[in-house]
This record gives sequence, structure tokens and C-alpha cells, in this order.
Amino acid sequence: APHTIKHWPSLAYAVIIAAVDQRLLYSENMWSLRKTILYPALRAVPMPLLAMAVGLFAGLAVWLVMDPIQSMALRDIFQEELRARAEMHSHEDLIRFEHYVEHYDSTTQLLAHQRHMIDYLMFPPWEYGNDQGLLVIQGEKPDWLPAASFWTPLVRPSHVILFDSERRMREIFEAVNAQIPDELREQADLFLGESALQGYLTTLDERPFFMVSRPVDEVPGRHLGYIMLLVPIDERFLRASQEGALKSGTVLAVLDADEQRILASSQPEVVFAGSLVDIWRDAYLITAQSFFDYDGSDLNMQFASFTPSSEVMATNQRVLQLERRQRLVAAAVFIAVFTLVIFVVSARLNMVARRLSRFTQRALGYAEPTFSGRNQLILLEDWINRFTRMVLVSRDEMSSRHESEMHDKEALRTAVMENARDCIVTIDSKGKIIDFNPTAERTFGHLRDQVTGREVYKVLLARSEIDRFRSMLEYSSHGSDPQQFDLADEITALRADGSEFPAELSIMRVPLASRTVFTVWLHDISKRRRVEQEMESLAKFASESPSPILRVNDRGVVLYANLASRPLLAYWDCEPGQTLPHFWRILVLAALEHERQEEPEMVSGERVYSLLLAPVASLGYVNIYGRDITEVRHAEQQARQHQAELVHVCRLSTMGEMSTGMAHELNQPLSAIVNFAKGSMRRLRSGSYDEKTILDALEQVANQAERAGEIIRRLRNLVTRQPPVRSEVDLNGLAREVCSFVEYEARKLGIEIELRLSPEALPVRVDLVQIEQVLLNLIRNAMDALQEVPASDRSLVVRTSAYGEGQVQMSVYDSGPGINPEHMANLFNPFFTTKSTGMGMGLPISKTIIDDHQGTISARSTPDKGTAFTVILPTYLDVLGANSIAGTG
Ligand code: ADP
Repeated sequence: APHTIKHWPSLAYAVIIAAVDQRLLYSENMWSLRKTILYPALRAVPMPLLAMAVGLFAGLAVWLVMDPIQSMALRDIFQEELRARAEMHSHEDLIRFEHYVEHYDSTTQLLAHQRHMIDYLMFPPWEYGNDQGLLVIQGEKPDWLPAASFWTPLVRPSHVILFDSERRMREIFEAVNAQIPDELREQADLFLGESALQGYLTTLDERPFFMVSRPVDEVPGRHLGYIMLLVPIDERFLRASQEGALKSGTVLAVLDADEQRILASSQPEVVFAGSLVDIWRDAYLITAQSFFDYDGSDLNMQFASFTPSSEVMATNQRVLQLERRQRLVAAAVFIAVFTLVIFVVSARLNMVARRLSRFTQRALGYAEPTFSGRNQLILLEDWINRFTRMVLVSRDEMSSRHESEMHDKEALRTAVMENARDCIVTIDSKGKIIDFNPTAERTFGHLRDQVTGREVYKVLLARSEIDRFRSMLEYSSHGSDPQQFDLADEITALRADGSEFPAELSIMRVPLASRTVFTVWLHDISKRRRVEQEMESLAKFASESPSPILRVNDRGVVLYANLASRPLLAYWDCEPGQTLPHFWRILVLAALEHERQEEPEMVSGERVYSLLLAPVASLGYVNIYGRDITEVRHAEQQARQHQAELVHVCRLSTMGEMSTGMAHELNQPLSAIVNFAKGSMRRLRSGSYDEKTILDALEQVANQAERAGEIIRRLRNLVTRQPPVRSEVDLNGLAREVCSFVEYEARKLGIEIELRLSPEALPVRVDLVQIEQVLLNLIRNAMDALQEVPASDRSLVVRTSAYGEGQVQMSVYDSGPGINPEHMANLFNPFFTTKSTGMGMGLPISKTIIDDHQGTISARSTPDKGTAFTVILPTYLDVLGANSIAGTG
């Protein structure tokens, strides 16, 4: 047991290690236990409280375990100590015992040398050779012994035996009333020999005795006899041997070493003789030791001290109590300190937790409930678990995102490389080709594998460009900003078939981790060159154009003027780079502002120009495309003249057709004049006349003559060839006048022309004769048509009215047979007629006239119902203002 106890710290350590062992803590059962019961319970307990509880619990547990062990250890130590001490005491006891025994030795010596003894033996009362028997003296002391006080302080021997010189026992003095042991009596000679020189311990009749003998000499070497003391080792002897130094409670005993039996004890009433030593072991601490050298002892005897165990126990208990008190104090201090430390740690943990909470909230958007008032350690562990999981999840997420990003980037790079319009050639710093994109393959006619590893300027560039490319590469590799396109230059590139082409080249430095590479971007510009050439030739168009082309900016400055615009510039008196005259500047600005094309005309001397102003608002200039329209104008003039002639001819023909009516009309006033004149003449001839009647008749004549004159004037107006002139007239008046022309003819046909004129005047600026011609044509066509229906059904209406904003209309309705729908499309075509005598020119001429006046003419007809022709004219026609601008520059 002491061996085990010595190693208890390592044992306890092993137990703790086993308990904390991860395998145990994290085993399946433990885990579920922790999760379901332990953790929720622990979470709710604040750390310091838990620490206190754990401290108390641990203290208690340690106490329970330690106390018996420690008590045992202590007891053992005590026992050990006590044993040592008992042994020492026992040794002292033994020494005292020996010392005491030695007194007997010297006392015996003294006895042997006293005078009485010698004298007695010089003349003994026995006869040698005669075995008279033994003299036993009881009570009164014999003469050969000194006074009784002689023994003090020794315990009186039980017997003093006197031997003769032949070692025969002669006299026995029985000091106490006791028989001499039989064993001694029988073997007296033997014992005398044994005890001759020093004391001799032995058992006689199973009782321990000490005997000592000495020869009694007359002179040295001549023995008169022998004296022997026999002292029983008993209670008295043992006590006396200690000379008062025996501790109370301690029992001294003499043992039979072989049998471990007590032969004598200092307190026979407690430890009685004859009992075995073993039965006393519980009650006493027994120390047995052999006596010092008692040669010749036939018996193996031991000296034993019995120290009562109860005494040992009491001391042990006292020490144990003291030790316990100290341990308790130490434990209390330990718990206090432990709790304090945990409290401090938990406070730190709280702080850490708060920080972590804030951090989690910020970093992961994950709010942690507050730690305070609960078990921070477990909550922290929970948090760390969760945090670890989250970190792992986000790490996985990040890595997968990173992977997909890398993948995307790679795909993007490949796509860029493959689909780039430029040739991308990756080279190393020595100019060796590393990569070659598909565009480059197509452009150069090399395959990627054919050129990889070859030098770029030998494969892809014209011989003359090699040095230039080398210096560009050199420059690029020392440029300050690698991401910048350092160079962009034109270079002559070489195709696989040996043909050359112009290309734009730029080199970009790409510093990689291990080395620096360069991407060479080549753009085939041969197409662009062609386009540029084409553009150049296109640009010549303007300069080569026979018509004037100019460009004027938003400040009216002439930016460009081709050769043909010389006359215009001369007229404006300005040169390219100078400003246009005010009027034209205003026009240009207006065109720009409204982003609307304008086409004014310009008369310069004999030439007339039409100028198309085309604004390019986004660039802030106006292109002017000039057109010499002098000839056009001239042709127009002639056309107009022809038209007028045509109209005149047409009118003449109309007049011809109307001549009968006209003549008849003229006939009326003329007949009246004749009648009035003849009447007046008759009256004047008869003489019976009054002045008034004659005057009236003359007045009538004058009136009728005026009427005739009016008719003739009108006729002349119609017939006379007049230059086309526009004047402001009222459409209503015009309609009235035309109707009066045809009145006679109409009446003859039994047609009443109904005039439905607008109540207000309808001013128009027209060529009066031409518009009259139009109306006349329409009315005459209507009358022709009406002839085909019975007289009772004939109706002809002429109507005028305002027509919307700025326009007037004039319509002619008839109740004739209408127009065959198939003919409608041809009505205004020249020479279309359905009449046997018709010319088919009336409507075409009318349309020409109306078109000339910026008006419209249209027909609507319902077969068997009638026809309506409508002319719409603008109320105001500033012909000059709208159509031509006389040179005002
Ligand atoms: P012309 O009177 O000489 O035939 P126009 O040009 O004046 O020539 O008329 C062409 C044709 O239009 C006429 O032949 C006729 O058939 C038709 N037409 C014109 N006006 C009318 C009308 N009011 N009613 C029916 N037909 C008409």
C-alpha cells in the first residue's frame, strides 16, 4: 500500500487526463449527452458561478479522495516514526535492563569476596565426599549473607545458593517463600557453569529467571565454593530494572522468541504471561529485541516493549486534525483564487465575445445574442463552432466563386483572343512567338503551330521593318506604364505568301510573375487605306462639280467653295473664309435653327440660281448646293407664253361658238337705239313733240349705246390677246360676269343658271381672264351635258364660298347624265372627249391654269344624277414672294 500511495499524484493525473481525453469527451454518447442535457443547462449558468460550483465540487472530490489517502499516509508516517521511537525507547529500556542486571553481577562478586562467606567456606558444616543432602534455609538469613539492606536497590533474589568446591549444591537460602525450581535443583551443576562468568537468562519451570554465580576464593585460583543468585524475572524485576524511567502505559515483557509467547511482563494484570504476542499487536506497538550477549543461554529469549497504540492513535489524530484544518483553509483560498481567476477570465471573455459579436455582425451580417449573464465559455465555443462552419462555408463559396471566376476569365480571354478583330501575337522578350490568335492566322496565312517559337520580325514583318520593330520592342520593355499601349505605329507586314500589307502595330508589356511577355496587336489597315483613297477621290466630287457647292458655318463664314461657285462669291463679294452678306447669313442661320432645307433663288445679272441649303445641325454648318436655273426659268417663261396662246386660241374658239348669242345680245341694244332714234325723228318731223319726250328717247339711245359698247368691250376683252397679269379680284364678281356671257345661250336652252354666291366678298389674286376661261369651260360643259336630259330636268348651279383657312372654292353643279366612271381618270387628259365636235382641251387647259394658281380642280359625278366640278384657290397669292427672290444683295 505505501508504494501505491506514493504514486497517487501520477494516478490522479492519469485519471484527469482520461477524463479530458478528447475521445471520451467527443465520443458519440458524450456528444449527445452534452448536446441534450449538459449544454443547455450549462449555457444558462454564468461562468463565475459555474467556476465556484466546479471549484467547490472539485475541492470536495479532492477532499474525499485525498483525506483517507492523506490520513493513511500520515498514520503510516507516524507509525514509522513511532516505531523508530519505540525502538529507541525499547533499546534504552533494554540498556537499562542490562545495566540493572549487571548490578547483580557486581553484587554477586561482592558477596563472593566478603569475609563471612570466605570464613564460612573455610570451615564448612558439610563433609566432602559425603552427600549429606541439601540444607534449605528459610526465613532467617544465614551467616554467610550480609544484612538484608545489602540488596537495596536491587530486587531481592528469590534464592541464594551455596555450592561447595566440588560444585555440589549445599545450601539454599529461600529469600521469598518459594520452592527452588526443580530444573535448577536437578541440573545445578550445569547452570552453575553457565552463569559462572556473567548473568544467565533462562526459564526454569517455564518461568524466566536470571542467574549469576561466582566462585568464592580463599586465595586467587583456589575455590572454596561457589555462590549463585537466582532472580525471577517478573513484574517487580522488570519495573525495577527501569529504575523509575518506565513510561506509563508502556509494558515491558520477556518473550520466548521461538513461540512468541510472553514469559513475564511488567504489568501482568494487563499483558499476562503465557499469552501469545500476536494478540497484543492491535493494542500495542511491540518492539522486540534480543538480549545482549548472554552466551550459553540455552533459551532464545527476547526483550519486548509494548507501547500502547491508543496513545499513538491519539497523537496521530491530533496531527491529522491540525493538518485538515490547514488543508481546509488552503482549499478555501484555492477556490476563492480559482473563482476570481475564472471571474477575470469570464470578464475578458465577455469583452472578447462582445468584440466577436460586433465583428461577426460586421463581417458576416450575423448577430450574436449577448453573452453576459450566461456561460460565456460554452457560448463562445458554440459561437466558434458556428463561426468555423460559416467561415468554412464562405471559404468553400469563395473558392468555388474564385474557380468559376477563373473559368469565366479564361473563357473570356479565349473569346477575346479568338474573336478579336485585331491580330494578337504574344511574344517573349526575345521576340519569339508564344501565341497566335485565329485572326492572325487568317490575316497572315500562317498556322499557329507553324509560327510558335519563331521570331516575330522574321516571320510577320517586311525585311525593312525589322530594325524599327526591334527598337519598338526595346522601348516598350522600358516604358513606365506597362498597361499602356506604348506604341501605335504603321508598319509593313508580311503574309505567308510573301505579299505585304500596311498594318497598325502596337506593343503592350505584360509583366507576369515569372517573366515579362508582350502582346503585339496588329491591325490590317489595307482596307482602311482603300477607303481613305476612295474618300479622297470622293472629296474631289465637290470640286469637280460644275454646279456651285459651298459650306457655310453657323456664323455665316464660307468654309468651302468649289470652282463653280465663283460667280456666286463674286456676286456676294466674298471669299472662302469670309462672311456672307447679311441677308444670306440670316437664311443660313434659319435653316440651321429649324433643321429644314430651304431652296431660295438668286438672280445675279442674267443668271438665275437655285440654292439648296442643307443644314448639318450636329456639326453646325450648312451645305449649299447651287443650281443654275436660268435655262429652266427661260423654258418656263416660254411654256407660260405658249399656254397663254393656247388659252387665247381656246377662247377664240369659245367666242366663235358663242358668236351667235353675242350677236343677238348686241342686236338688242342696237334695235332699241334704232327704235328710239326713228321714234324721235318721227316726232321731230311731225313737229308735235315736246322736248322732254325727245330727251327721254335720246337718253335711252345713249343708255342702249353704252350697253352695246359694254358688250363690245367685254367681247374685246375676251378676244384681245393680253399678257398674263394677276390682279386682286372678287370671285363673286367674276362668277357674275361669266354668267352674263352665257345667259343668252342658256336661256335658249331653257336653262336657268342659279347663282349661289357667298355673301361676303372672296378676294383672290388671279389672272382674271384665265379664271373666267376656266369657269366658262365648266359652265359650257354643264350646258352640253344638260342638253341630254329633258328640259324640265335641267338645272345648273354656280356656287362660291370660303373654304377653310385661306382658301376659296367655286363649284359648278349640273343635273346632267353624269360621267361614266371609266372616264373619270381621263377627264383632264388632253384630247379626251366624248363629244363629236369636241376638242378635249377644255379641262386640260383649265387644270393647267388652276395648277398655275396653286389651286386644285376636281370632279365628282353620279351617273344619271349629275356632275359637280370644284375649283379651290388660295385667297392670297404673292406669286413673287413665294417663288422667286429678286436679287437683293
Ligand atoms: P370637250 O368639251 O371639248 O369635250 P372638255 O375637256 O371640256 O372637252 O371635256 C371633256 C369631256 O368631259 C367631255 O367630252 C365630256 O364627256 C366630259 N364632261 C365635261 N364636263 C361634263 C359635264 N358637266 N357632264 C358630263 N360630262 C362632262
